Amino acid sequence: MNLHEYQGKDILAGFGVRVQRGIVAQNVDEAVEAAKKLTEETGTGWHVIKAQVHAGGRGKGGGVKLAKNLDEVKTIAGQIIGMDLVTPQTSAEGKRVHQVLVAEDVYYPGDSEPDEFYMSVLLNRGTGRNMIMYSTEGGMDIETVAEETPHLIFTEEVDPAVGLLPFQARRVAFNLGLSGLAFKEMTKFVMSLYTAYVKSDSSLFEINPVLKTSDDKILAVDAKVTIDDNALYRHKDYEALRDLREENPIEVEAKEVGLNYVDLDGNVGCMVNGAGLAMGTMDLIKHSGGEPANFLDVGGTADAARVEAAFKIILKDPAVKAILINIFGGIVRCDRVAQGVIDAYKNMGNIEVPIIVRLQGTNADIAKELIDNSGLAVLSATEFQEAADKVQEVLA
Ligand code: GDP
Ligand code: MN
Repeated sequence: MNLHEYQGKDILAGFGVRVQRGIVAQNVDEAVEAAKKLTEETGTGWHVIKAQVHAGGRGKGGGVKLAKNLDEVKTIAGQIIGMDLVTPQTSAEGKRVHQVLVAEDVYYPGDSEPDEFYMSVLLNRGTGRNMIMYSTEGGMDIETVAEETPHLIFTEEVDPAVGLLPFQARRVAFNLGLSGLAFKEMTKFVMSLYTAYVKSDSSLFEINPVLKTSDDKILAVDAKVTIDDNALYRHKDYEALRDLREENPIEVEAKEVGLNYVDLDGNVGCMVNGAGLAMGTMDLIKHSGGEPANFLDVGGTADAARVEAAFKIILKDPAVKAILINIFGGIVRCDRVAQGVIDAYKNMGNIEVPIIVRLQGTNADIAKELIDNSGLAVLSATEFQEAADKVQEVLA
């Protein structure tokens, strides 16, 4: 589950990580109120108005702007709220901005220059250990840094048995070229950031930039936080942070009816039971010259209601030119699934895309008969290759 910047910062702050302070606002009036309140609390005169959408690169797209007085807060919040923000990480249509974070300006002048760093915490799948990835080159695309100046990216791996050790946090601060108070602040920042990562069961933290202020404080100016969905049951309070407006609408609907659905770019919808068979079926579709339009595991109970729900979900994708149903009937007998497909088809009325059904397992022969005699425009197959050939045929 991805979070908004303001939500990510709340979680970080809860574990003692210093963050650029801010208040989220849904409209211009709230933005002005937020700015006044921040001035009272932090003494800041200037504010940054930051679009809250699940996409990075907002600054480049005009979604992060500095306001030097309340009038500017009003104007800028008015511009950003409601805009379709286009960034290097969104589609060409962009993402609708529903809310902004009004934050204190932390790039104020002082004894030293502010300095931006990059820092992320994530799992190194190669070693099976968490690592902190960091760079002196903050505020820009880490992908660009990795391409052009890979020697400026450092990593610090954490031994899960002992956790992040203080000497490692000091090494991070050292490699970032810090000394004195900033060095001490950075070690504290890194230690608390890592604790937050572990305790929140996150799968990714990306803080870009981490800022050294002109008075040598270290704080998170941005926060991209992804919580591990498989651990959400341990954090009931995080469930409320989900913003369905940011998620794929078809996937949200599928989740509501309990289907395991992932939207993909192809033209062949597939309905399968079991994740492994679903993967195999997607390969099969590719082999037959198509591209899977989705991953859909209907799970163990493929009755008429479930098949119908799955049909409806698949057909919401206008790119679907054919549907391949590939179900292994073990405990659910194939004839029950076949009947489910037929009933769902009849209930739905006008399904215009060709459907290929491959049922294998218990009562597969009865199932094939049911389909073949149903009078519906459904092609049946028993073998994998046969199903692939039929997909190829209907796409041709
Ligand atoms: P992103 O573009 O989506 O990654 O959003 P960020 O939160 O990283 O902000 C983008 C950029 O806005 C940062 O790299 C900073 O250069 C700038 N910025 C953020 N906060 C402040 C601030 O308090 N004052 C000033 N002057 N600039 C800021
Ligand atoms: Mn950023």
